[in-house]
Amino acid sequence: DSVRVSVLGLGAMGSALAAALVTAGHETTVWNRSAGRADDLAAQGAQVAATAGDAVQASHLVIACLLDHASVREVLDPLAGHLAGRTLVNVTTTTPNQSREMAAWATEAGITYLDGGIMAVPQMIGQPGSSLLYSGSADAFHQYRPLLDRWGTSTYHGEDPGLASLYDLALLAGMYVMFAGFMHGAAMVAPAGMTASRFADMAVPLLTAMTNGLHEYAAVIDGGDYTVAGQQSLEFSDLTDILNASAEQGVSTEVVDMVQRLLRRQIDAGHGTEGFARIIESIKNPC
Ligand code: NDP
Repeated sequence: DSVRVSVLGLGAMGSALAAALVTAGHETTVWNRSAGRADDLAAQGAQVAATAGDAVQASHLVIACLLDHASVREVLDPLAGHLAGRTLVNVTTTTPNQSREMAAWATEAGITYLDGGIMAVPQMIGQPGSSLLYSGSADAFHQYRPLLDRWGTSTYHGEDPGLASLYDLALLAGMYVMFAGFMHGAAMVAPAGMTASRFADMAVPLLTAMTNGLHEYAAVIDGGDYTVAGQQSLEFSDLTDILNASAEQGVSTEVVDMVQRLLRRQIDAGHGTEGFARIIESIKNPC
């Protein structure tokens, strides 16, 4: 069914979200701080609001996709009265506590609040592989789920409005550190004349195969016993050879040093024969 929906923020992501809603046949009103960014959407059939207040008043469902928490507060604080009785879905990337702050503000103002984290880049919106995490109002999630599903696979993670942000940022932490590991390897082989593209050809199959190991590590971590048989030990995992080879190539050792430090703390505490998954204890217990 067609839903009236307003989208605040037409950056790369907001434009992609709004375009998917227009394509799906929803009556979509859009607003952006700077003029001109709504032109393509208007040509596709979106209504363009002159002010954020007008956009809010056009629909019961309001999507915010702005730069960050500060820009959301700046745009929405003066509109609390207009938003009262409506549903706000905030897919702007924020920290968990910023999401909770928005939810508290919304509750105070009589606004139903759902927070979202987008696990996709704009080109992926509405395509296979796009996934969005939500937390906050279960009623809002269930009521608007068919619309939210237009952007990608939607999953709901609970009433605590901070959880979608938490899971979003936790996943991105894994992604960025993996990317940094790839960059490190590419820097190591560069002096040997290998292009990053050729290195990527070698890295993709290996890293893809290695992601299967995540579930094995997870089982050890959840089981709480790092001594179970069949694991690679911390001592065996010592990264000295990688560090030395990196230094020989004249590249920074920062990325690998980080892993080595986490690992050494466990070995120094007497856990060298236990499994590599134990480095999570170094992370959970900062020194
Ligand atoms: P852009 O930089 O392309 O767009 C930012 C948007 O925020 C623009 O519409 C801009 O308006 C608006 N904006 C910034 N500051 C203010 C302000 N003070 N008042 C009003 N509007 C403001 O960013 P994206 O669209 O890429 O990202 C939007 C959100 O989506 C971010 O939180 C981002 O983390 C998240 N996201 C983005 C992904 C991506 O791959 N792009 C992936 C996952 C999440 P103006 O045009 O006037 O400058």
